[in-house]
Amino acid sequence: MTTVGFIGLGIMGLPMAANLAAAGFDVVGYNRSKGKADQLAERGGRAAGSVAEAVRDADVVVTMLPDSPDVRAVMLAEDGVFASAKAGALVIDASTIRPDVSRELAAAGAERGLRVLDAPVSGGEQGAIDGTLSIMVGGSAEDVEAARPVLDVVGRTIVHVGPAGAGQTVKAANQLIVAGTIELVAEAIVFLEAHGVDTEAAVQVLAGGLAGNAILDRKAAGMLDRNFTPGFRLELHHKDLGIATAAAREAGVVIPLGSAVAQLVAAMVARGDGGLDHSGLLKLVEELSGRA
Ligand code: NAD
Repeated sequence: MTTVGFIGLGIMGLPMAANLAAAGFDVVGYNRSKGKADQLAERGGRAAGSVAEAVRDADVVVTMLPDSPDVRAVMLAEDGVFASAKAGALVIDASTIRPDVSRELAAAGAERGLRVLDAPVSGGEQGAIDGTLSIMVGGSAEDVEAARPVLDVVGRTIVHVGPAGAGQTVKAANQLIVAGTIELVAEAIVFLEAHGVDTEAAVQVLAGGLAGNAILDRKAAGMLDRNFTPGFRLELHHKDLGIATAAAREAGVVIPLGSAVAQLVAAMVARGDGGLDHSGLLKLVEELSGRA
């Protein structure tokens, strides 16, 4: 049986780890707040009291943490993943972090005989629960093949996109598209409401045409109800748009719409709405339109 050490059992990590346990993997989970590991234990996994304990006997380590400093700390700490995992283990970081940090960690892991992949995901909490995530993987082809049995359980579309860090670059592009689309769907909803149109009917027909997209399919109903329970928190999207704008600048690429949306997301976070789902951008559109 393959043992998986799973670090970070939040909105995404817990259902991913539970799906691995349900698929027959021996999953040992650790989260900074202990209750989460106990929840994994209730769902077929085992709870560990430290990173070292979770990864010591693992053939595969998966991390699903908020941001670059968290991943760097968990990997590089004295009693962290790199110091505690056995040589040859696969280390799959599914968090969304900076591509340069993924490259740095892949090189540092290789020095310790570990096979490190960046494998950020898209598909949201529901995709994690259903095991249908899209996973963009950076690393060597051989390591990606070795990781497939694990990735196949948590995802449906798994694509090797290039060497270390490439997965994060693709994920940054993903976040640009998602944020921009949410903003446009929010603007369309406020616009339709201002005209007194039946918005449910409008969303239904829009979803069937060229304007159709996953945000209309999965988020519009919550937006119409003003239900902004996360899901994906605006503060995490703020982090991702920081990654995207920095990476665009580094490449000398101009992203005018992306930058505008990044500023709107930054405004939501600055005024204390960072804990809302990213579809909460609609609130700002309403307020800017004097309709709140
Ligand atoms: P989350 O905040 O719900 O989960 C992160 C978990 O990591 C928390 O439970 C936290 O306690 C734990 N943690 C933080 N530091 C830790 C440490 N040092 N040791 C152990 N545990 C620690 O976040 P999430 O929504 O699950 O997102 C995780 C990552 O996945 C982020 O990078 C995010 O951008 C990305 N992501 C999220 C979604 C989504 O829809 N929520 C979708 C795709 C990608």
